[in-house]
Amino acid sequence: MPSQQEHAQTEAADDTATERAALTEQIKGFALKAGGDVVGIAPVERWESFVPEGYRPYDILPNAKSVIVVGVRGPNAGAWRSPNHRIMEVNGYDFANDRAIHMIADHIETKLGYYALQGPALPTAGYQPRMSMMLAAVLAGCGTRSFAANIILNPKYGLLYYSACITTLELDYDDMLEQGVCPAPMCVQTYKQIGKTPCMAACPSDDGGCLDGSIDEDGNMEHVYYDRERCVSRSMNFGISSFQKALDQIAEEEDNDKRKMMINSDFFSRSCGAVSFYKESVAQCFECMRVCPIGRGERKLK
Ligand code: SF4
Ligand code: SF4
Repeated sequence: MPSQQEHAQTEAADDTATERAALTEQIKGFALKAGGDVVGIAPVERWESFVPEGYRPYDILPNAKSVIVVGVRGPNAGAWRSPNHRIMEVNGYDFANDRAIHMIADHIETKLGYYALQGPALPTAGYQPRMSMMLAAVLAGCGTRSFAANIILNPKYGLLYYSACITTLELDYDDMLEQGVCPAPMCVQTYKQIGKTPCMAACPSDDGGCLDGSIDEDGNMEHVYYDRERCVSRSMNFGISSFQKALDQIAEEEDNDKRKMMINSDFFSRSCGAVSFYKESVAQCFECMRVCPIGRGERKLK
């Protein structure tokens, strides 16, 4: 028989667990209402096996306990359908995941009284981001890495855009996905027939592209090859790098007329638009995702 003190301790623990479960449900419901398509929550300790000291959630927010990850679809189904692929680049991304995370952080601080901040997905110095949103999505059980540029695929939606909120609030945690989302069964079949999955065939590393890999006998990922540098130069047509490249060429150009022409060119104008955050075609290439079957059902409409 448990003593009276043990009984009281068990009851208190039950109350805490019930309260935590209710808070978790509240936060997840809020995240979906704020525009999220999926939401997952991970304990901060999960980062310890993957990132060095200084880059863990509690290094960013002291005493952090949880990381809430929100994924949204980005481009509308209609944008995927447009025969002009640039349409998706110019109006595909609306930062809805960032908006949702800011709303969650505000809610946690103003209504629940715990610290919260957006996980910094950009570098505070140098080129290394303080936090990987891809890793956060995996650790929060939202998806797994794929053959296509390591993009994290969610089992229901496929490609999602992720943001994260780090908080001192303790919540219930989601398990990481046990089964890899990629390769899909039809991709395993394609691989058996032609030695490539659809994404590898769309961007083959042996023919100017970026992707390669192999699938083992059980239909799981065996080896993944992704040429990130080549992908950047193929997909980031108008971004910081194109601006730097064009600026260098313009500065070197001695012919006045030619220099003026380069400054007013479509290429340099678009590059300027990209770095000034004007809503412009910046740096997206969806070709490996266009052929991916994961999430395609969600984009099938009338
Ligand atoms: S984003 Fe484009 S360039 Fe990069 S791997 Fe996918 S298809 Fe290739
Ligand atoms: S097409 Fe999609 S599911 Fe198939 S192998 Fe490529 S990334 Fe994986």
